[in-house]
Amino acid sequence: MRKFAQKRKLINMKEHFKFYLFITLATLLVGIGFTSADFFTSPVHNFKDSFILFLQWGILVMALWSVIYLISLNKYVFALLYPLICLFSSILAYFRYTMGTTLTTVILEVFFDNHSQTTLISPILILVVVLSLLCAVLVVIYRFRNITIHHILLNSIIAFLLFVLLFNIPRIKHPLSERIPFNLYFITVQYFSQKKEALTERSVLSKDVTSCGEDQIVVLILGESLRADHLAFNGYERNTTPYLSQEDIISFPTIFSEYTHTNASVPHILTRADSLNPDLAYQERSFVDLLKQCGFYTVWLANQQPNKSYIYFMNECDTLIYANANKSAYVFDKWVDGDLLPAFDSFIQNDDRQFILMHTIGSHWYYNSHFPDAFQKYTPITNSRIVKSNTREEMINSYDNTILYTDYFWHEIINRLRDKKAVLIYLSDHGEALGENGVWLHATDADPIHYPACWIWMSPQYKADNPEKYQALQENKANHYRTDFLFHTILQAVDIQSDVIDATFSLFTVSP
Ligand SMILES: [Zn+2]
Repeated sequence: MRKFAQKRKLINMKEHFKFYLFITLATLLVGIGFTSADFFTSPVHNFKDSFILFLQWGILVMALWSVIYLISLNKYVFALLYPLICLFSSILAYFRYTMGTTLTTVILEVFFDNHSQTTLISPILILVVVLSLLCAVLVVIYRFRNITIHHILLNSIIAFLLFVLLFNIPRIKHPLSERIPFNLYFITVQYFSQKKEALTERSVLSKDVTSCGEDQIVVLILGESLRADHLAFNGYERNTTPYLSQEDIISFPTIFSEYTHTNASVPHILTRADSLNPDLAYQERSFVDLLKQCGFYTVWLANQQPNKSYIYFMNECDTLIYANANKSAYVFDKWVDGDLLPAFDSFIQNDDRQFILMHTIGSHWYYNSHFPDAFQKYTPITNSRIVKSNTREEMINSYDNTILYTDYFWHEIINRLRDKKAVLIYLSDHGEALGENGVWLHATDADPIHYPACWIWMSPQYKADNPEKYQALQENKANHYRTDFLFHTILQAVDIQSDVIDATFSLFTVSP
């Protein structure tokens, strides 16, 4: 009897081992075959960097293991979901390898709305999908024929707890939400929540407009991670702005941004929200509402992905155009602001009364992705996406090269506005830390992150028509402002008058 019990225990252990080995192999099929596509192009410098990437991949595979553990507890659930995971992962990996494309909410928008799905299908894609499904079906058949699970309740509890634990640690959840196969779920959820946000109702501002000013063009370049003190025209020792230093621009080097990352900062810049009424950023429309009321044709040119916090304003504009809709923080090929110029050209010819907002990628990390090779003046540059694997000198060189390119981009925009009646406002969403007190990048707290670059340029005709405005900026350029100035300043720049404009915030108001 005892011998029989021992034998039974041994068989049970063998069955357990076989089950866990099965989950592991089913996980590795997806993990090596598809998830790894998101890691191959990551710039790495040495063995240590590769090891860190390998660990990040390992954490992703562990999360995947918990999912496959959970679904494999029931063979019918497994037969349905495992082939679906393989199917979608293979499609996402195919586009990642062949086109450097990652799944974004904009890609989903194009997919759902343009009905152009068939043009993306190729014989190789079909082959990849068929092979993946074949492997998935073999795994499912094996699950049906060879896997017996004991202690199903205990296994269910362990699998569920592991799944909940891994998906509730922000440091794990965030990176996996943008990677295969989890991005399919997380990006789809984001897509629908952004769509809902874009269509919500917000308080109208335009009913208060009392005067609309003359025909003119106003351009707002919403910058990214550009700190004021790295611009040559603000006194930086390197000549990072050879073009703009030659222009008659008025720079405001002491603008304070309370928020240190894009998603928090952009809604506050575009709306009437200020430190006393921060919630207005999520309740009211932006200044675009008043521009439209005054007959401005409004355009949003995006070189960044939309976010729930500001997608409302993107849709507020008459036209919304994306450059680089297929890029995310985990894609490391070139992603530059010059890609916005063709769209800018197509609109700037059309109307005498228009507003163009360009949401640029500017100086965002990974810096080397955001300037063409021709702008690699400061060397050596970074060669790893692991920040700490680069020297401070390499980080600053790469960062300054992004500014050299941004300066060229500004010059291109100014050249297109020179013969028009136009005003151009540049404001970065926040600054960037470059190793001060060991702090890097943004979305954290350090002084340089709170001081974004900001300047204004006026075309000769605009300046001739508005000498008092030019004079006011000159008088105010050393004053301290918060980014709250933008809403009121941009409306005053085109002479719109309304109760919602508070002149005390405006850069055009001269103190007596
Ligand atoms: Zn930003």
